[in-house]
Order: sequence, then structure tokens, then C-alpha cells
Amino acid sequence: MVVNARALLTDALTSSGLLDGYDWSLEVRPRRRSVGVTVEPGGRVVIAVPPTARAEHASRLIEIVASNAQWLSTHVAKSCASVPTPPEVSLNDGDGFSLLGNSHSLRLVDAGSVSTERRPCYTSWYLNVPRRKVAAHGARPIIEWYMTEGTRWVEAQAPRWLPRLDLTGDKTPELRVVDLGKRRWGVYRPNHHRVELHWTLFQLPPDLVEHVLVHELVHATRPGGSAHGPEWRKRMTAFMPRWQHLRKELDDRGRSVWTGAVQQRQG
Ligand SMILES: [Zn+2]
Repeated sequence: MVVNARALLTDALTSSGLLDGYDWSLEVRPRRRSVGVTVEPGGRVVIAVPPTARAEHASRLIEIVASNAQWLSTHVAKSCASVPTPPEVSLNDGDGFSLLGNSHSLRLVDAGSVSTERRPCYTSWYLNVPRRKVAAHGARPIIEWYMTEGTRWVEAQAPRWLPRLDLTGDKTPELRVVDLGKRRWGVYRPNHHRVELHWTLFQLPPDLVEHVLVHELVHATRPGGSAHGPEWRKRMTAFMPRWQHLRKELDDRGRSVWTGAVQQRQG
């Protein structure tokens, strides 16, 4: 490959705007025979080209990247979201926390309050937490952040569902994000007409969280029969046809969420 072909092809791709917002690079791969568009863990995009690539291949390269645009956006989102959250955290800089599928890297700060700040990977953020709060309360400020953000999400999403489920007016259930312990993602409490969602749930992608919200809201419509009997299933399928698929994914991915445990810090 001519030395500056890489730079020229990189410029051409940059000008095309197709990769705006991505953390990406164009790499020459000696064994490649064709262009490859790949996503690395964490969401970094690599456009791999063969050593025979030349500057005059720019328009063909742009075509290839354009034809992969949809695939790319889906896979970068997934890959950013799948940065593994360890079951235990140490409360040190760099600990990973996922919120609704977006990864956040803990950054202890000397002043201010708990806040988030965008990082270069476009679905990735810093989670700024004051050092003194961690020293005094351990993981509590982070759990409270999940509860606050979870409540915000529920308040934004519930209005789309309540009218469809005929849960408006005095039929509207109370909605809360709480700690439900180890075994449940959500619960409907008929005596209080209240739906409660577990804060740990909000580490998962929005479609999985929404599935739990709808599951509990369908309980709140008080279908006849047993809790997950034919009437409940019929309503669940009517409102969310993919619910069984989503439940399976929840079972799979839900196993690796952080439940608030903190490793003993060294020293
Ligand atoms: Zn249920």
C-alpha cells in the first residue's frame, strides 16, 4: 500500500460523515483481500483494508461503509453496552457501570455531585462521583443514581403504555424503583395498586427493562385467573408479542448485573 493511501482513505471517510460520532480508524491488514468493517469490544470501529488499497478506491470504500451503516450502528450500540459489568466493584476509577445499556466508567471527583459526562465512544459516559461520598457511604450514591435514573426512565416511558393498557385516571398504578432483593426484577402489589421495579434492572438495555415494566403493568390490569395464567399471557402477548423472547434474554443477561456488592479495598 502506498504510504499515504491510508491517510487519504481516512480523510475520504472522514469527509463522508458516515463515521461521525464513532471512535474509529482505518487499518491496513496484510492478509486481507477485501474491505472489512468490524466493531471491537467497547464499540471501537475498525475499517480494515487490504494492502492493495489505493487512494482511488475511496469512493468504493465509502460505498461499502455506507452499505454497512445500519449494521454498524446496531453493533456499536450492542458492543458499547456489552462492556461487562463485574459482579463486584472496587469503587475505584474505571469501574464499569451500565445504565440502560450505556456504559459508564466511574471517575472519583473532588467536588460537585453525582453526574454523568459523555466520553468519546458515543454510548459511553463517565460517572462522576464525589470521593467523599464514596468514603462515607460506599456504593450507596451509585445505587441511588440508578434509582433516580430508573425513576426518570419509568416516568418517561409509562405514559406510552398506560393508555394502551387502560390504566389511566383512577386506574393508574403507582410506579416505584426500589430494592427488591435477589430474586425479582419487578412486582405488582395489588393491595397498594403499585408496580415496583428493582434498581439493578436499569443496568440492562431499555427493551429488557420495558418488558419488565409491561409485565407488571399487565398484572395491574388484573386479568382473571392465576398470576401468569392464560388470561395474563393473552394480554401480555397482545401488548408485547416478543415477550417470551425478551424474558429469555433477561434470564441470560440478568445473571451478570451488579447487585451492589463491593470488594474490600486494598490497603
Ligand atoms: Zn409476574
